[in-house]
Amino acid sequence: MILAKLFGKKTFPKGIHLEEYKDESNVAATRRLPFAPEMIVPLAQHVGKPAKSIVFKGQHITRGEIIAEADGFMSVPIHAPVTGVVKEIGLAKTAQGGKQAAIIISTALSSGQQLIESEQSNDYLSMSREELIQAVQNTGVVGLGGAAFPSHVKMKTPENCAIHTVLVNGCECEPFLTTDHRVMLERIEHLLHGIRITMKCVDAPKAIIGIEDNKLDVLHAIEPYLPDDQSITIKAVATKYPQGAQKMLAYSLLGIEIPSGSRSSEVGLAIFNVATLAKIGSLLPLGHGLIERIITITGDSLENPGNYLAPIGTPLRYILNHAGFTGDEASLIIGGPMMGTPVRSLDVPITKGTGGVLVLDERLTKHNDILPCIKCTQCLQACPINLNPSELGLLAIKRKYDVMEEQYHLNDCFECGCCSYVCPSNIPLVQYFRIAKTLNRERHLQDG
Ligand code: SF4
Ligand code: SF4
Repeated sequence: MILAKLFGKKTFPKGIHLEEYKDESNVAATRRLPFAPEMIVPLAQHVGKPAKSIVFKGQHITRGEIIAEADGFMSVPIHAPVTGVVKEIGLAKTAQGGKQAAIIISTALSSGQQLIESEQSNDYLSMSREELIQAVQNTGVVGLGGAAFPSHVKMKTPENCAIHTVLVNGCECEPFLTTDHRVMLERIEHLLHGIRITMKCVDAPKAIIGIEDNKLDVLHAIEPYLPDDQSITIKAVATKYPQGAQKMLAYSLLGIEIPSGSRSSEVGLAIFNVATLAKIGSLLPLGHGLIERIITITGDSLENPGNYLAPIGTPLRYILNHAGFTGDEASLIIGGPMMGTPVRSLDVPITKGTGGVLVLDERLTKHNDILPCIKCTQCLQACPINLNPSELGLLAIKRKYDVMEEQYHLNDCFECGCCSYVCPSNIPLVQYFRIAKTLNRERHLQDG
């Protein structure tokens, strides 16, 4: 059966093969991370307008209650990750650098105080599409694969787009990260609830769960739960980076190309990450909000690497202590090594979009000298969307950011990092592209 599924499996052109480094964290079951004594809950954890705080300093709050409301449709509420007292509403450090508004909570450390009582139950099968989309917004769920885009907004597809397939992205192609792998093994019923909710919201007749063929245990685990009518199926695609990118997965599974500048809905697809749908499937039927998520904690010098169910807002310092970090110095990355964000402070919390905390020994992450481009074309051969990273890099050095955008399709770059990875001259191409995009955005804002 599995061989039949793999026979003729498809992939996408170009991309790269990476060492996986997943064995340290993908074999053991997910454990619960204890509650840190203090939680830092930023109001802007998602793409769109930040949530609006509705609590005050000194207020007693209960785990699961809303502490910040959604500010319009392009926003989601934030729920208390712990029972405790609001210590402060002020500025807190972010993983991206700088500071932003956050609710700081002193946790009530008795475990009995952290129980959640279920008051409500939503019969999602009897709800209308509009009611369901509102209920998804009420959960506060955003893309847990790292994008942090509000899920309910993605589920409200444009009038002129008919969705034929929900693609459920379980590729998790970044090295080290195994969160989605564990979710697919441990939260199958929640995942299927989430898929059915999504199919109803976008009015799609079928869904396909796409996994890389390094997770065949997931096929064995999920197949017995799939409906006989083939409305939900699971397929394996080749293990290759960046297979989990939306364009790559759509092409590999269905041969569908998402054109430059188009949305997946324009080609009849709604694409969601597995952890996102499993979370919606667990929360929405109970009327609960997002207060915790599974993250991979892995890398060097850790006594207890693995996957942890962690309250949103847990500071990195607490996470490293709990995972038993024994090194002197380390580079910390939130997310994976290819697309993650390096962080300098341990006082940064995990947020809704955090899928992993990666600890890398400083000695292994020292950067090599940047040398001139030798026109080897390796970056062109690696770029999965056929950009010309070499030329884009040369334009970035000359600060010709407008030319990069207008003539070399800079905005199609989804920052996978393949080009930087293969470059023998150590040119940090993807960093150049991130800077160029940021400066272009600022220029467009100034131009009105
Ligand atoms: S980072 Fe951008 S330019 Fe480089 S390989 Fe990925 S998509 Fe292509
Ligand atoms: S891989 Fe590096 S050296 Fe080779 S063409 Fe691209 S930018 Fe130049």
